[in-house]
Amino acid sequence: MARQPATAAPLAAKWRKLAEGRCAEKGERLTPARLAVYAEMLARGRPVSAYELIGLLEQRQERKIAPLTVYRHLDFLIRTGLVHRLQSAQTYLPCDHPDHAHESQFLLCSSCGHVDEVESSGLEALLSRIADEHGFRPDNAVVEVKGLCGTCADGQPD
Ligand SMILES: [Zn+2]
Ligand SMILES: [Zn+2]
Repeated sequence: MARQPATAAPLAAKWRKLAEGRCAEKGERLTPARLAVYAEMLARGRPVSAYELIGLLEQRQERKIAPLTVYRHLDFLIRTGLVHRLQSAQTYLPCDHPDHAHESQFLLCSSCGHVDEVESSGLEALLSRIADEHGFRPDNAVVEVKGLCGTCADGQPD
């Protein structure tokens, strides 16, 4: 029996339902510990590194947490499509729309760290056509676009 986390960040019913749905679909078990990691990431509201996430969880649960445990939970969250890994920044971000499988496109602000997850079927179709033309079989078509978010771009002197 896995030890239950003493405390977890509050998790809105909407996200809990989505998580339960994804797990049921994938035949995965949603344990309290896994849910606590997910809730912590949602509460943070921006991408976190594994290291940062461990710190947040330790603070909330007031105990030491083995990094390997958190990595395992992150693997689970990625596997079930609840969380995305941002390759370029080596951070993790809860998916905006985990109710369906999708390739991911992200707009990453290099000034404030804000990340927007966007979904474009047009871009996905284009990427898959380009891959086709090259006889290439992609297994990961994540697109990460770096730049300035609207707010930061507005604050920039021309
Ligand atoms: Zn997503
Ligand atoms: Zn910004």
